[in-house]
Amino acid sequence: MPVFDVAVVGGGIVGLATGLKILERCPGKKLCVVEKEREVAAHQTGNNSGVIHSGLYYKPGSAKARTCVEGARRMIEFCRQHRIAHEICGKIVVATSEAEFPALAELLRRAQANGVPGVTEIGPERIREIEPHANGLKGLWVPGTGIVDYAAVARKYAELIAVAGGEVRLGARLTGIRQDVGGGQVLLTTAGEIRTGLLINCAGLHSDRVACLGGAKPDARIVPFRGEYYKLLPDHKHLVKGLIYPVPDPRFPFLGVHFTRMIDGGVECGPNAVLAFKREGYRKASFSLRDSFETFTYPGFWRMGLKYWRTGLGEMYRSFSKAAFVLALQRLLPAIRAEHLETGGAGVRAQALSADGALVDDFRIVRTANAIHVLNAPSPAATASLCIGEQIAEMASTTKG
Ligand SMILES: Cc1cc2nc3c(=O)[nH]c(=O)nc-3n(C[C@H](O)[C@H](O)[C@H](O)COP(=O)(O)OP(=O)(O)OC[C@H]3O[C@@H](n4cnc5c(N)ncnc54)[C@H](O)[C@@H]3O)c2cc1C
Repeated sequence: MPVFDVAVVGGGIVGLATGLKILERCPGKKLCVVEKEREVAAHQTGNNSGVIHSGLYYKPGSAKARTCVEGARRMIEFCRQHRIAHEICGKIVVATSEAEFPALAELLRRAQANGVPGVTEIGPERIREIEPHANGLKGLWVPGTGIVDYAAVARKYAELIAVAGGEVRLGARLTGIRQDVGGGQVLLTTAGEIRTGLLINCAGLHSDRVACLGGAKPDARIVPFRGEYYKLLPDHKHLVKGLIYPVPDPRFPFLGVHFTRMIDGGVECGPNAVLAFKREGYRKASFSLRDSFETFTYPGFWRMGLKYWRTGLGEMYRSFSKAAFVLALQRLLPAIRAEHLETGGAGVRAQALSADGALVDDFRIVRTANAIHVLNAPSPAATASLCIGEQIAEMASTTKG
């Protein structure tokens, strides 16, 4: 049976960044990344908006704030060093009603507190200069925001792991964990058993389940939220130059539907946030009995539902009604019409939800005797991946394993 010092479960951007940082810190460690799919970055990492976030949304002092600002800097440096296509196109956040001014002011305050470089308040004229078709009474210009293909970044992390002597095992689903008397553990996977001292759980949409397999008792459960996109048809791409975001509703960890120029030149519109009936369900019709049963029997889900049912219904409605989706987009870009859009892809967010119904806002990483579990790594975890990886590598160096 192959024996490793460290086994990382999950070949998404967080697991791969973690593997890379461990090997950088401790060259010669025997490390493998175990991924159930035939390629890396098949889930959240490969289906996201591709934005290198700057760090203005997050509560000062939070893990998100700390790792996003520095993580963005390192992500850009990494892309330059490894010649990964990216662009620092900047973005605007626009308030379309006076009621949003206080939330916009709070974003500016957070940007300053978090040390996001160059964020300035702008008026309607400057908004029009930057984005001639955008609507806004007031806004923020965030010059450092960029775009990249995170699947390409993840593939590069995997390549560097291999160069450093690590292994990325594809097509290997973790199905069970047997604890050894000596503190080691045997991972049962669909591609055979492996023995490891330390397990690092970066399983994204399945991170709570992997934690349970490892004997941990996570205090939150993953509830999947699908984000659906439309794409601007080629003849209408000129309507958006860079990134146009609304002022987000501070009660939710999602940013609201926005326009994102992608690194391949396309423009995505979205994503919304609807409850998914399957953890890796990318279509409206996707359904898993197990996943739905676990969501609907979780008290936290109903407590969240009681608080936010109105917003949830609105999101569902927009999911089925293109006209309603377009209406939300028109707040930012009045010129947009349904006929300018074609259906785009979708991503599913792994959102941890506490039993009291609270959406866990910050990153959550917990340590047990011989494991480290990443239990909540939503946006901006792709941006921040190198910093998160480094943080876990440091934890790993002081965990028995
Ligand atoms: C719609 C959407 C838009 C987003 N936009 C942005 C953005 O613009 N910028 C940004 O910074 N972040 C964004 N995010 C967030 C970002 O994509 C995630 O935070 C990040 O990708 C999380 O990476 P991960 O490695 O934790 O998870 P994942 O990429 O989901 O990887 C987890 C991996 O674990 C594997 N796995 C699960 N269970 C097992 C098992 N039992 N055995 C083996 N392997 C297993 C899965 O197959 C998967 O490959 C967005 C997310 C979504 C969904």
